[in-house]
Amino acid sequence: MTDILNLPGFMVKEYRFIEGVGLVLYLENLTTVVTCPHCGAITDKLHQNYELTIRDISWGEQEIYLRVNRRQMRCECCGKKFREELELVNKRRSYTERFKNQIIQEVIESDLKNVAQRNNVSEQEIETMLKDVVKELKIQKPSNLRKLGIDEIALVKGQGNYYVVLVDIEKGILVGLVEQRTEQSVTNYLSSWGQEVLNKIKEVSIDEVNAALGACIRENVDLWKPYKKIAAKLMPQAVIVADRFQVMKQVNQELDSQRKKSKREAHNLEDEAEKAQVLSGLNKSKYPLLKNEFELTLEQKDKLEQVKKVDPILAVMHSLKEQFRNIFEVSANWVEGLLSLGDWLRDAQDYSPQSIGTIRRWVGEIIAYFDCRTTQGTVEGINNKIKLIKRRGYGFRNFDNFSKRCFLTWLFPVSFTS
Ligand SMILES: [Zn+2]
Repeated sequence: MTDILNLPGFMVKEYRFIEGVGLVLYLENLTTVVTCPHCGAITDKLHQNYELTIRDISWGEQEIYLRVNRRQMRCECCGKKFREELELVNKRRSYTERFKNQIIQEVIESDLKNVAQRNNVSEQEIETMLKDVVKELKIQKPSNLRKLGIDEIALVKGQGNYYVVLVDIEKGILVGLVEQRTEQSVTNYLSSWGQEVLNKIKEVSIDEVNAALGACIRENVDLWKPYKKIAAKLMPQAVIVADRFQVMKQVNQELDSQRKKSKREAHNLEDEAEKAQVLSGLNKSKYPLLKNEFELTLEQKDKLEQVKKVDPILAVMHSLKEQFRNIFEVSANWVEGLLSLGDWLRDAQDYSPQSIGTIRRWVGEIIAYFDCRTTQGTVEGINNKIKLIKRRGYGFRNFDNFSKRCFLTWLFPVSFTS
């Protein structure tokens, strides 16, 4: 049993099975001498015994409790009394460190409520464990960061409250979380990594920027292009890449606005027969128009044909949208990409003025995409996890603690001795 327990320095003296509780192991501490924390002398003078019962990792379905003596010693050198430190258990906690680590790992991978139920631990206890670990967590500068992803997440929808998320795209881990979406805060955060870290960054991939730009186009112009500026200032050696899916989104948005406009106009038609025909053609046309054409069902393809027949503008815009996606999928290199994009910009001139504006401003970054083909899937995944942590809250209201709680998900050791 001592071997199974695998706690160096302890021996299982005896065990008892307690119905409804689990298996209780009585341990003997094989280390007899203790170092005095006051003067550093070594002593083996026992003053008092102090028996603890602590939870340990389960053996299969069997819950395990350890009965262990945390001795109170008396130092022969300085005469002071002190309680010995046990490595396996944190002071004032009723479970072993390795039990805590196992629970934390499970919480990171699943849901706190489930973990509590499965392990027969209270949710509050798990929150305490999380807080303990977060307190000890030391966030280090990213090492060997070559591809930096920048993204934002909205905390409370519609309140304009955003965090800036920094990601190591190659490793798929969070490397930074900035509380405020201002040029100054992001600059300060990145600068704190130091030039040595920043110099290694070869590529900066900026997401959401086009969504933000979309908002800017609606409200004002280029309100939020600081990311590009920050990257150019702090990492002049890095290539800046825009996410093509975001650009694609805008092309789609414009197509959708046209669809709505066409519908409104159809309602105003005076010829009743014509009005009925156009409206029936446009009815339920959103997905057939917006979805990738190769992914349409037969029924949707049919619908698409009807739309094209009744609305020539939508027909052109749909084909432009398909061409646009195609450029990103088939261009073998940036020269080819740029040539095709040039053609597209010319063809789209009368149809998609907003997308053209965005593309013109970001042409360098979009071209870089053809060379690097960085996708933002990693960043999305990380964002979703952060949102989940935020939604659950668990008392991490203070930003520093919340940020550490997020880091825990990617920095916590994956394997334990058990
Ligand atoms: Zn002493």
